Amino acid sequence: MTSALLFFTELTQAPSKAQRELLTLAARFDSATVALTGDISEEATGIVGSYGIGRILQAPAGDGFQDHEVGVLDAAVQTVNPQIVLLANDSFHREVAARVAARREVGIITDAIDVSADRTVTKDELAGAYTARVNPVADLVLVTVKPNSVEDAPAGGESAAVVEPLEVAAYASRLQVVGREEKPASGRPSLGEARIVVSGGRGVDGDFSPVEDLADALGAAVGASRAATDAGWIDHDFQVGQTGTTVSPQLYISAGISGAIQQKAGMQTSKYIVAVNKDEDAPIFEIADFGIIGDLKQILPQAAEEIRRRQS
Ligand SMILES: Cc1cc2nc3c(=O)[nH]c(=O)nc-3n(C[C@H](O)[C@H](O)[C@H](O)COP(=O)(O)OP(=O)(O)OC[C@H]3O[C@@H](n4cnc5c(N)ncnc54)[C@H](O)[C@@H]3O)c2cc1C
Repeated sequence: MTSALLFFTELTQAPSKAQRELLTLAARFDSATVALTGDISEEATGIVGSYGIGRILQAPAGDGFQDHEVGVLDAAVQTVNPQIVLLANDSFHREVAARVAARREVGIITDAIDVSADRTVTKDELAGAYTARVNPVADLVLVTVKPNSVEDAPAGGESAAVVEPLEVAAYASRLQVVGREEKPASGRPSLGEARIVVSGGRGVDGDFSPVEDLADALGAAVGASRAATDAGWIDHDFQVGQTGTTVSPQLYISAGISGAIQQKAGMQTSKYIVAVNKDEDAPIFEIADFGIIGDLKQILPQAAEEIRRRQS
């Protein structure tokens, strides 16, 4: 009997696509439990149940730093005694996973793209240049899974999951939050989870509007190279690459980006790569499925217009 534990930090709305992919993976094991910090909606308990997962352990929400979440996940591991814990692959959850793994002296695998019922984990290595299959030898392994890796497949469970309170020892945070400001929502999908990403580089020459317009026509997230973020044309949160966000969308459109190794490291596992660059020798064309040699300021607006025409 192999039991899985899933860790979410919020389920106030219907689970996101990435959360559904984690539910799909957890349902492959003999039993699965969700551990959660924060609130959960009635809709979400129904959706968790539809994956055949019947139990949710709920703890209060944290303050945005990981101390609380580490304590909650550790307590949930103590309660459930799972053989595998599944988490999102973003930096917040990777840090929670690493700290719990260190505390318990167990294994951790990041950048996973698949997990089978015998705990074999498939993961990207060396920026996606290799795919490795790993069998954990520890009794417990924590695995962070990249979004857009698994086909979402509810198992057909009919009853909603039951929510139980999880007892967690009070923690004394060593940090005090003195101010918090919400960023204005862009209305676009988040970069790390989007199915389509349109990224701009130094070639946009300070004007991201053609990139943003094409992204909006496609319902895509906006990304950027480090040259663009360093120039201050767009916030660092949008940076894709080795020192930015790693993305693995179904479609990545790269515009005015040369394709340096550090940029490729964050996007080369995308399913389809379309590159727009006026230099036919740009390295990005080595990994592009479809390349367009030309000026992005002409090509991107034409693409956006044609996509909107076909949508109407
Ligand atoms: C430790 C380290 C970490 C790094 N981490 C990252 C990272 O996370 N992400 C990242 O992106 N980089 C990273 N870099 C930087 C990386 O090495 C490159 O310098 C950077 O990716 C270059 O950005 P770029 O492709 O936009 O600019 P450039 O290399 O200058 O390329 C611009 C491209 O735009 C094309 N172009 C110009 N005008 C147009 C136009 N009108 N239409 C179409 N094409 C046009 C040009 O032909 C050129 O190919 C890192 C570097 C280091 C040393």
